[in-house]
Parts: sequence; structure tokens; C-alpha cells
Amino acid sequence: MLNIIIFGPPGAGKGTQSEFIKEKYNLTYISTGQILRNEMAAETEIGLKVKEIISQGGLASDEIVAEIIEKFIASHADANGFLFDGYPRTVKQAEILDELFRKYNLSLSGVLSLEVPEDILVERMLERGKTSGRADDNIDSIRHRFVEYDQKTKPVLDFYQNKNALYPIHGVGTIEEIFNNICEVIERL
Ligand code: AMP
Repeated sequence: MLNIIIFGPPGAGKGTQSEFIKEKYNLTYISTGQILRNEMAAETEIGLKVKEIISQGGLASDEIVAEIIEKFIASHADANGFLFDGYPRTVKQAEILDELFRKYNLSLSGVLSLEVPEDILVERMLERGKTSGRADDNIDSIRHRFVEYDQKTKPVLDFYQNKNALYPIHGVGTIEEIFNNICEVIERL
């Protein structure tokens, strides 16, 4: 059973590559960002709570996303394996995920970390912003997302490096080339 985390800075291509990974390896996919966007669109209690912070490029609270993740895992007990996109984004979230793995008898196969230089990331997100309709794909929010990433999310890399679970992936090239880089790593897990 494969349980994979796809990791990387904003705009690294996590969502794009996840589409291919989940198909090829028959994984149950969860994107906390997508779930939060759905909550915002439906104007649920959670959605209303996170709307402002997300549109400004900040992170939702660890408690809110932990609740989303646990609900999802608990309701997909028959999954063949999970693909986590955009979670964990803080060390606290990584610790919570560890506990959830223990509770639900899952084991982590690896963390695939997409590596892309910042100028390319900005370019990709501004391009995406033309059609994505995402409130956070504008230059001010993008800048803030990088600050959040550097301060809160990057330390997650050390957390998994210390567990020997971190696999860096060259994240520049065509979608197909990057997917091939990812598959080479997954085949070794
Ligand atoms: P994403 O679609 O993964 O780029 O996420 C979009 C936005 O949703 C992020 O910039 C955060 O504001 C919020 N978000 C998604 N996942 C998380 C998470 N694990 N923890 C906190 N905030 C999150």
C-alpha cells in the first residue's frame, strides 16, 4: 500500500502532478486546499472562517485542517493508499499526521518534494491566476504565500528528512518529464 505526500512550494505543480499520480497508482487523493476552496464556495462555517486568511495567502489553522484530514481518512477506510497534496504544511500538522497514521494503521511510503526555483513559481502562479479564479493567485498573495512557506512549511522538510522519508524531485521541465521523475522515485518506494 502506497501512502504518499506530494510536497513543494506554492506553484510547484503538486495539483497537476497529483492528477497523474493518483490515476497511475490508484490512490485516494486529498487536497486540503481544494477542500477549503469548496468550503468557501459553499459558505460553510469552516469556509467563512478561512476565507480572508486564504485569499491573503496565509495558512488556515492546524486545528481546522487536522479535522478535515481525520474526517477524510476515517471515511475512506477502504482506500488502496492515499495521496496527500498540500498537507502537512507545518511541523505541527506533520506530527498530527503521524498520530493519525498510527491510529488508522497506515504507514508513510515517502514524501515527494518538488524542487522549483522561485522565479518560475511566480510565473506559473500568475499564469494560472488568469484562469483559475483563485483569490490567492495574485502577486500580493503569492508573496505572502512564499513567506508562509519559508517560515512555517519548509521546516517540514527536516521533519521528514530525519525519518529518511524525503525524496527530492527535479520539478522543472514539461509536465510529462516531471511526472517521469516522480514515477522513477515511486517505483523505488
Ligand atoms: P493549495 O491549493 O494547496 O495551494 O492551498 C491553497 C491555500 O489553502 C493555502 O495557501 C492555504 O491558505 C490553505 N491551505 C491548504 N492546505 C493547508 C494546510 N495544510 N494548512 C493550512 N492551510 C492550508
